[in-house]
Amino acid sequence: MDFQRRGVMLVIASPSGAGKSSISRSLFQQDPNIRLSVSVTTRARRSDEVDGTHYHFIDVPTFNRMKADDGLLESAEVHGNFYGTPRAQVEEQLAAGNDILFDVDYQGTLQLYEKCREDMVTVFILPPTIEELRARLERRAQDSVGTIEKRLRNARIELDHASEYEYVIINRDLEQSVQNVRSILASARLKRERQTNFTSFVKDLQSQIDSL
Ligand code: GDP
Ligand code: ADP
Ligand code: 5GP
Repeated sequence: MDFQRRGVMLVIASPSGAGKSSISRSLFQQDPNIRLSVSVTTRARRSDEVDGTHYHFIDVPTFNRMKADDGLLESAEVHGNFYGTPRAQVEEQLAAGNDILFDVDYQGTLQLYEKCREDMVTVFILPPTIEELRARLERRAQDSVGTIEKRLRNARIELDHASEYEYVIINRDLEQSVQNVRSILASARLKRERQTNFTSFVKDLQSQIDSL
């Protein structure tokens, strides 16, 4: 017999540009047990994004319909666009023992927390400095100057919510940050509450003693 466990909902948040997507991508590549929660969004696709992989890009009427039909586990307006987490798959993956990585903003984290508290582990990624945050947003070269300014201003609001997360990481060295998230995930996976057959496992050990 072995432990069977429920999946972990790993929520990683940060101000835009702090490195959340880079950390998530690397984590995902290193760990076959992690699934990504692919959000729906109404924002325009960036040139390097693939529909269905990075996001499901949808229009506002479709978003509103999904929300009305209770098809979204959570949703929020971020930087003037709508984002949401499709409900289908989340429960299925958790029950199958797969961990799910969520890239949601603080509003989404709060909504998930209300519904899925026991399954969640939350991590906030901080930039070393705001100068570096701006440099990263510019280096990514995916957003207009106006959008970058908007994201920098929004960082102030996001930072207000950093204290609502269980774990905090300053993303200086990317590989080190990835290792830190892996350590957090490794201990979350070992929590007794997550081992669905813990009681029967222990009982089985006891009956082995009884039959000695
Ligand atoms: P990034 O900030 O550069 O990674 O830009 P993104 O466009 O990838 O993300 C925009 C914002 O939407 C971020 O704050 C994300 O955390 C948030 N976000 C992404 N997916 C979800 C989601 O499924 N639910 C919620 N609530 N927020 C999300
Ligand atoms: P987010 O998803 O938080 O908006 P990204 O992962 O897209 O951020 O990172 C923004 C930019 O910063 C990208 O160009 C990425 O390559 C770079 N970056 C991420 N982490 C680091 C790091 N530790 N050191 C230097 N550059 C980084
Ligand atoms: P971007 O437009 O740069 O891809 O994302 C901007 C912000 O939206 C990020 O902070 C990201 O975490 C957040 N975001 C992306 N998808 C969702 C989602 O489904 N729900 C919520 N609440 N936020 C999201």
